Amino acid sequence: MPITGECFCGEVKYQVDGKLRDGKSCHCSRCRKAFSAQASASARVEPSEFKWLAGESVLTSYIVDGGYGLQFCKSCGSTVCTIFNGEVFQLTLGCVNGNPDIEIGKHIYVDSKASWEVIPEGVVQFAEEAE
Ligand SMILES: [Zn+2]
Ligand SMILES: [Zn+2]
Repeated sequence: MPITGECFCGEVKYQVDGKLRDGKSCHCSRCRKAFSAQASASARVEPSEFKWLAGESVLTSYIVDGGYGLQFCKSCGSTVCTIFNGEVFQLTLGCVNGNPDIEIGKHIYVDSKASWEVIPEGVVQFAEEAE
């Protein structure tokens, strides 16, 4: 069964013929804004294993810097994926359907977390970036 995902309104749909890898959550102030949440939650995808099923025309891109950017649904605002030079390489876990067999393995930039966020004890945490 391929992994599928969609935005909040359902206009944008995609499929992954492969596995998600490197699930992580970033607590930096930029991710809070970009994902309208306490942190990002995302996983890597092999660009060759990813395809849009619907709604490519309602996607908007916001290029941040160095070729990195985000793509989101114009209709509902879901941040669906992260792109690099126009290619999807990271998916927002909140838009992935069902049980995609991935976990958030690490929490990064926890030193920059919002004062109101409580990170559970026992999770793997890094003050800043981690490979
Ligand atoms: Zn949508
Ligand atoms: Zn971040």
